[in-house]
Amino acid sequence: MRLVNPSRTAAVLQQSGWRFSRELGQNFLIDPNTLDKIVAAAALEPDDVVLEIGAGIGTLTVELAPIVARVVTVEIDRRLEPVLAETLAPHANVTLIMKDAMALAAEDLGDARPNKIVANLPYGVAAPVILRVFARLPEVKSMVVMVQREIADRLVGRPGTKDYSAFTVKAAYYCRAQRVMSVSRNVFTPAPNVDSAVIRLTRHEEPPVPVDRERLFALITAGFSQRRKRLTNAVSAEMAAGSKPVVDEALRRIGLSENIRAEALTLDDFGRLARELGKNWQPQPQKG
Ligand code: SAM
Repeated sequence: MRLVNPSRTAAVLQQSGWRFSRELGQNFLIDPNTLDKIVAAAALEPDDVVLEIGAGIGTLTVELAPIVARVVTVEIDRRLEPVLAETLAPHANVTLIMKDAMALAAEDLGDARPNKIVANLPYGVAAPVILRVFARLPEVKSMVVMVQREIADRLVGRPGTKDYSAFTVKAAYYCRAQRVMSVSRNVFTPAPNVDSAVIRLTRHEEPPVPVDRERLFALITAGFSQRRKRLTNAVSAEMAAGSKPVVDEALRRIGLSENIRAEALTLDDFGRLARELGKNWQPQPQKG
């Protein structure tokens, strides 16, 4: 039975005496039309193995289960475990993992090898979860995810705009982002304070820049850490004392102005700069 309507959702939650947690981004989908569009956008095949992050009461999970081979769903809130035990009971091909998605590793998934992600992501951790899943689960080829509109704007942000950020450039390293649709806050219970959007992320066949990922991501983080300043100042602050001329020279050699700011660089520019800096750029390891 579908869970995606206000009265079913209220009934399931009332039965367990359960209360929403704002911190965990618990805004459950109650609009069948929006849910149908998310599932359609995911273009699922019968042999797909889908990973969902943020099961909630299983609203999306129970829609995915009948159309794919297997669903693995991750939920952090232990209070939802008994609720999910009931709502997911009719679906033998669903595996529930009670865990923080930020700490999820391939080993947690047992023998499941998800190739797609479909999720209404918890808003507080949507951006880092997207980067971590791409980094840690190489078999995931695409994601169709609901995120808050600001995160969607950043995923499709163009250089030089306010939406263009370190997250935009790092995500572009892994995937191509397309906005599927805008979503009103009224399709959730409780309604969040912001609107949302559904985004499709398609992993590149090969990383688009042939540079060590940790060095590249650290350069992107450093560049955007002071986005109003010249890139040289922001990047050299993370290098040995007196490195400004080294960065200026590297920028000149790749044909960029010494006065350029991080927000004007494409992913390819960051890649060329990392290569040009060579051993002069030895950052601390990155997590994302
Ligand atoms: N899939 C459901 C739906 O569409 O109605 C619920 C989506 S709700 C926006 C996000 C869910 O993610 C909540 O159930 C919340 O408890 C869970 N969550 C929050 N932070 C999490 C984390 N770090 N790891 C796993 N789940 C998390």
